[in-house]
Parts: sequence; structure tokens; C-alpha cells
Amino acid sequence: MSPAVPEYSGVSFLEAWFDDVDNSHPEIAALVGQGGAHAADGARGMFAQRNGGNHIRVYLIQRAPADWIHQSGLAAADTAAIRARLLESYADWSPQMQRLITDNDGPYVQRPIFALPVPHTWEHNPTVTLLGDAAHLMPPLGVGVNLAMLDAAELALALADSTTVDEAVRAYEQTMLPRSTETAKLLEGGAEHLLSLDLPDHSDAEGDDLVRS
Ligand SMILES: Cc1cc2nc3c(=O)[nH]c(=O)nc-3n(C[C@H](O)[C@H](O)[C@H](O)COP(=O)(O)OP(=O)(O)OC[C@H]3O[C@@H](n4cnc5c(N)ncnc54)[C@H](O)[C@@H]3O)c2cc1C
Repeated sequence: MSPAVPEYSGVSFLEAWFDDVDNSHPEIAALVGQGGAHAADGARGMFAQRNGGNHIRVYLIQRAPADWIHQSGLAAADTAAIRARLLESYADWSPQMQRLITDNDGPYVQRPIFALPVPHTWEHNPTVTLLGDAAHLMPPLGVGVNLAMLDAAELALALADSTTVDEAVRAYEQTMLPRSTETAKLLEGGAEHLLSLDLPDHSDAEGDDLVRS
């Protein structure tokens, strides 16, 4: 459909999981609250997200090569060695915040952040189109799933309402492409914002604690 290739943003996430948080990790559960908590010091950051099933997911965010674990001579499965390297990197962070690095359940998962060029468009094809990340992979700032579901719903409705698949694909692309381009422009380079000291101030938002290191 398109020769575009996602480019590495220069920012890499390492995902850590915390299970049964209200019972097994009460301090982390209290710190994160019912929504999300974000901290950054300009070079590294953390984003913690409350998920369903009493889980919390934490992203440890660093400016680093996409395969920094391998380049550091570490193995992706060597949780203890990766943890020790992370503690070196986050050495100046408070012990309370370091527990978001050390107390996780299970291995870390690498999530190097890639994005498609903006705008990403393609020549119309009467029977094929793209949706979700395949159409508009962006830095993960909280909209990707929503956009993917909206794309899917709109494409389904267009298929139901149109006489031909070609007509449905055209109708869908006419709405989806401008919408995704607008959002992608807003979020372009956005992975870097997660490292910035200049975080948005959500301190007045009900039930939403912003944590600064
Ligand atoms: C670290 C991180 C955190 C994120 N956090 C959020 C968040 O908090 N909120 C939010 O809204 N979004 C978030 N996103 C973005 C969100 O995950 C994506 O935007 C969303 O998953 C896109 O959905 P999709 O169905 O388009 O693609 P995907 O979820 O990638 O699904 C595509 C599927 O196709 C499968 N597949 C690939 N190739 C083939 C093949 N050849 N044959 C068969 N199957 C194949 C893949 O295995 C995959 O299961 C985050 C992304 C990342 C990386």
C-alpha cells in the first residue's frame, strides 16, 4: 500500500508490570492512583498507568539506541542485570520512585518507539486500505487505540452503507486521512516530551496525581 517505513524516535521504553497492586504493591498503587503518574528529569522518565485487573504498567523511558540492551552486552531475559543497569541510570531518583524499577513482577519488555512519517498517505486502491497503526503509527501518547477503534468503526459503517467496496474505502479515507494527519502532526517528536521537565500540570485534576522527581 505504501513504501513508508516507521522510523525510530531515539526514545526507548522498557515496560515493567506490577500485579495485584493493592495487596502486593500498596505504596506503588497509592503513588500511581487510579489513573497515571509521570515523572521526568530531562534525560529519563517514567510513566505509570493503572490497568484493569489490579495491575499497574510502568514505562521506563530513556533516550537510547533501539537495541540498547543488546548494545550494552546484556541479554533481554537477564532481568537482574537490566535492573542493575537501570538503577545506575536512575541513581539520582528517590528510593520511592526507584521501587517502580526494582519491584516489578516478571521480566522487562523492550518497547523502542517508532513512528510513521507525517503525513502518511497512499494512492487509493479500490479494495485495500490501512487502519490503526498501519495507517498512522505515532508516539504512544494515549490516542493510538482510540484512533484504531474509530478507524475500524468508521470503515465498518462505510462498508455497510456503500454500494461498492471502492466507494466505502473512499468515504473512509476521506475522513480518516485528514484526522490522522492532524493528530500525527500534533504528536510528531512527542516521545521526547515524555523526558521533558516541562510536564503538563495535572495537579488540579481530580484523582490524577502528577509525580515529579
Ligand atoms: C509502549 C506503548 C504504549 C502505548 N500506550 C497506549 C495507551 O496508553 N493508549 C493508547 O490509546 N494507545 C497506546 N499505544 C498505542 C496502541 O498500542 C496502538 O496504537 C494500537 O495497539 C494500534 O492497534 P492496531 O490494531 O492498529 O495495531 P496492533 O495493536 O499492533 O495490532 C496489529 C496486530 O497484527 C498482528 N500482525 C502483524 N503482522 C501480521 C501478519 N503478517 N499476519 C497476521 N497478523 C499480523 C500483530 O501481531 C498485532 O497483533 C501504546 C503503544 C506502545 C508501543
